[in-house]
Amino acid sequence: MPNCAHCGFEVPENALVCPACGVDYTATKDDVKASPEPYFLGMFGILVGAGVSFFGMYAGLIDDPIGIFVPALGLIAGIRGVSVAYVQRNLEGNYLLRMMLCMAAVLLSAAFFAVYVLF
Ligand SMILES: [Zn+2]
Repeated sequence: MPNCAHCGFEVPENALVCPACGVDYTATKDDVKASPEPYFLGMFGILVGAGVSFFGMYAGLIDDPIGIFVPALGLIAGIRGVSVAYVQRNLEGNYLLRMMLCMAAVLLSAAFFAVYVLF
């Protein structure tokens, strides 16, 4: 089986789209752009994992057993964003910005997750 030129994933013969990174082989090279998904995931992760978590510390969310899901949700979104950005690193788009945004979501959410667990 041939390997995807963008992510290296083994692609079935005659595939039109890479099952791993979603590259459309029928498109010309200029059309191959990274998806905006990491931007949304990164912003969502920061907003929820850091923003909601932060205010939740004052609103009593931190004392609620369910409150732990808030930073956890931000963490999951951030990790998902990092993985999407990484898989699409060779596609057209600002890879560094995508990665930094999602890494910020991961780190901030992880920090609040730790705070929620400890207090
Ligand atoms: Zn691929």
